[in-house]
Amino acid sequence: MPIPFPTERRSCGVPIPLPPFRPGWVWLVGAGPGDPGLLTLHAVHALAEADVVVHDALVDADVLALARPGAEIIYAGKRGGKPSASQPDISQRLIALARAGRRVLRLKGGDPFIFGRGGEEARALVAAGVPFRVVPGITAGIGGLAYAGVPATTRETNAAIAFVTGHAASGDVPDNVDWTALAKSASVLVIYMAVKHLGAIVARLIAGGRSPDEPLAFLCSATTARQRVVVSTLGRAVADRDAQGVEAPAIVVVGEVVRLRETLGCWWDPADLLAPEAETAAE
Ligand code: SAH
Repeated sequence: MPIPFPTERRSCGVPIPLPPFRPGWVWLVGAGPGDPGLLTLHAVHALAEADVVVHDALVDADVLALARPGAEIIYAGKRGGKPSASQPDISQRLIALARAGRRVLRLKGGDPFIFGRGGEEARALVAAGVPFRVVPGITAGIGGLAYAGVPATTRETNAAIAFVTGHAASGDVPDNVDWTALAKSASVLVIYMAVKHLGAIVARLIAGGRSPDEPLAFLCSATTARQRVVVSTLGRAVADRDAQGVEAPAIVVVGEVVRLRETLGCWWDPADLLAPEAETAAE
């Protein structure tokens, strides 16, 4: 038997039952990589209902614009030239807001459990006895590849794919990654936060047996109007990063799948996000 939901809870206008966002709860929600069209229905519903939205630097302004008018918007990111909040401070803030009876939307770029510290926040909520819900999002390493015309897998190119971080909590290249084993085992590598330590990462992959000629792409600000894709190779990646001024946030994708962009990269144009009315006007 489906659980009956009051119709006013169908806040984002879709005729499917969505769970009520109760006061005193925290929803830990993935906002996707940028394009608001990649939000889940649960995320849109949460934006429409939340009393307070606590968001990261990577949450796109167009996504925040969907918050209920009057909702309090709190920035709790770790970059962007603004003062950074420490992780324990953010968790404590979520707990305090929930205990004050607010409906707290913790909105994170991509997926909250992919290199997003969502696991740490969820554990703090459990420890504090605060009820919460997790809403997965489209991670940049999936959405960004798709919008660049790079399939994450094809039968011809790869039977494995690895998501890796290029930046450890210490600020260095992660030393708990066996780069040689990774180089040998996953033919497609999707590397987050790789721009800074790219030289060390590329050197380890080549030392681990990958060819310097293997294709690599930088997917910068993927799925936003600022999306930029720079195609390179493992061997030329550092020089191209510097010459082309590649900037974070960027996903680095390594593998034969990158060649498919030549054929498939045509399907999406970042300008589509800037001028959605133009098409209607021309009709
Ligand atoms: N939870 C996020 C990842 C957070 S770590 C997710 O699932 O996507 C931050 C890193 O994610 C950035 O340094 C960058 O490597 C990547 N990233 C996030 N959004 C991005 C975007 N729109 N374009 C390119 N890379 C992005």
